[in-house]
Amino acid sequence: MKKKFGFMLVTLFVGGVLAACGNNTGNDSNTSGEGEGKLSIITTFYPIYDFTQNVVGDEGDVELLIPSGTEPHDFEPSAKQIAQIQEADAFVYHDENMETWVPDTVGGWEEEDLSIVKGTEDIQLMPTDKDHEDEDGGEHSHEYDPHTWVDPKLAIKEVEAIRDQLSQDYPDKEAAFEENAENYIGELEDLDQKYESSLSDAKQNSFVTQHAAFAYLANEYDLNQVAISGLSPDEEPSPERLAELKDYVEENDIHYIYFEENASDKIASTLADEVGVELEVLNPLESLTDQQMDNDEDYISVMQDNLNALEKTTDTEGEEVQPEDLDE
Ligand SMILES: [Zn+2]
Repeated sequence: MKKKFGFMLVTLFVGGVLAACGNNTGNDSNTSGEGEGKLSIITTFYPIYDFTQNVVGDEGDVELLIPSGTEPHDFEPSAKQIAQIQEADAFVYHDENMETWVPDTVGGWEEEDLSIVKGTEDIQLMPTDKDHEDEDGGEHSHEYDPHTWVDPKLAIKEVEAIRDQLSQDYPDKEAAFEENAENYIGELEDLDQKYESSLSDAKQNSFVTQHAAFAYLANEYDLNQVAISGLSPDEEPSPERLAELKDYVEENDIHYIYFEENASDKIASTLADEVGVELEVLNPLESLTDQQMDNDEDYISVMQDNLNALEKTTDTEGEEVQPEDLDE
């Protein structure tokens, strides 16, 4: 699988500009009393929030800018939110291919007393899967696929990048960041081990998904993500679409289709009855619901749920599934 994607280093030029601001300015002014100065840190969307919180621990208050349940691809910050970022000690985001507003908004803040941390600093992005581009809507489509966090190995790289950039700007907290990150990376390594040992024995390598956010995960564990279009968790498909899907599912011997959230019971039962396929959730972790947050779910627990869901497919013998639309 790996050679299929022409990996390219793309984020360098914007990253370079952003990395130039905020360095070695953020510390002193905000920590009035020695030692007791907790950092105030704004993070963009869920995984970045969780990763940052695990690095920062008791050294700061970490906040999530993009509220739970909000689609982060379409997000634009309000004037109030921009002010909130300006007042913080550090701002942690993922990548310009996800938070497309960052270069225009934060990129011009060379004078600001703010540490700007980019999660994908050491990660090479791959070109966007066309299906996902369409699904995110034309004007918000991204040239490079930003969904690296669904791969535990790339999550580790991101945690290291957050640790290193925060440590550089707040050297007095470096030891704490190092220790926190080490503990958390240990947990991420366990997660990766679980994926590795389960998926290396996959009897079926293809999984069919409605949201093509899992290209990095597929690439990492030698799976084949097959995206289908025109299926929404809250809208019943047309009779024509149901007939097409029925043929496709039968031809390819597909038993499960993965949705990013629970589809309504009605749609789930229609697809089961008319198409002969079960629905499972593969959560792309773009945001967690309030309820998931209240239940103490987090990146690792949701990724464990994702693995359990994937195993329904990978533990059953099967052929490689062909994409539905063979136009390339
Ligand atoms: Zn997405």
